[in-house]
Amino acid sequence: MSNAFKLEGKVAVVTGANKGIGQAIAVALAGAGADVVSVSRSAPDETEAAITALGRRFHHVACDLGARPDADAVIGEAEAAFGAIDILVNNAGIIRRTPATEFSEKDWDDVLDVNLRATFFLCQAAARRFLASGNGGKIINIASLLSFQGGITVPSYTASKHAVAGVTRALANEWASQGINVNAIAPGYIATDNTQALRDNEVRNREILGRIPAGRWGNADDIAQAAVFLASPAANYVHGTILPVDGGWLAR
Ligand code: NAP
Repeated sequence: MSNAFKLEGKVAVVTGANKGIGQAIAVALAGAGADVVSVSRSAPDETEAAITALGRRFHHVACDLGARPDADAVIGEAEAAFGAIDILVNNAGIIRRTPATEFSEKDWDDVLDVNLRATFFLCQAAARRFLASGNGGKIINIASLLSFQGGITVPSYTASKHAVAGVTRALANEWASQGINVNAIAPGYIATDNTQALRDNEVRNREILGRIPAGRWGNADDIAQAAVFLASPAANYVHGTILPVDGGWLAR
């Protein structure tokens, strides 16, 4: 890998780094040289072991991102742990599956709070520091195919992920000239806990697989290397993009 993809000396904050896509991203960023701060409810023991085994520093901020936390305090704790932060990955996300006619206000608010509200205010808290330092920074939000499509029986998730794409572009427009790159990754169908229900449903699983040009579910590592790219100097002129990593789903 050329030096443009190296992250030595950088500090990355990754939400939801205890499992799934966030874990793969955190470990890949550490593999490229970054120290990592994880933000999640659950203890990220496995992620910590993988990252310290790579010789990188690891710090965990315990936080329920669905409880409208003080985003400035979260980023402040990360900064206090390692001096400064350079990269923010807003990965934590939840989904609720219910037909729209029965969809509850709780399932609407819970999803929007984690997927959108926390994402925006963590972007704000990180960017304030990037701007104050004058060093710029990288922000990567995890969007979805449902940033482009409607999905089935997941209205609050679709609303949140369309909004994540919009906010990514809006913030890129505000901060690009000041050395802050705000981009998103739109994962396709990735085999994690988030999609277990789909893989357990034989009919949906067959329909999904039949539509993916690559002919397989993605895995979390497929997403992680795209995150390394967007976090690295190789992406210095990439702003406001929503990068699909989807086995060709959207091309079809
Ligand atoms: P996952 O395995 O279910 O992991 C979700 C992560 O989010 C966990 O680390 C979880 O931590 C964290 N999280 C959820 N609610 C939280 C809260 N209230 N406070 C703090 N952390 C919270 O899902 P995944 O598939 O890796 O998804 C990661 C991201 O990718 C999400 O934004 C998801 O929407 C997006 N995505 C996934 C797919 C896919 O096919 N899997 C496709 C498109 C987009 P806890 O364990 O502590 O709850």
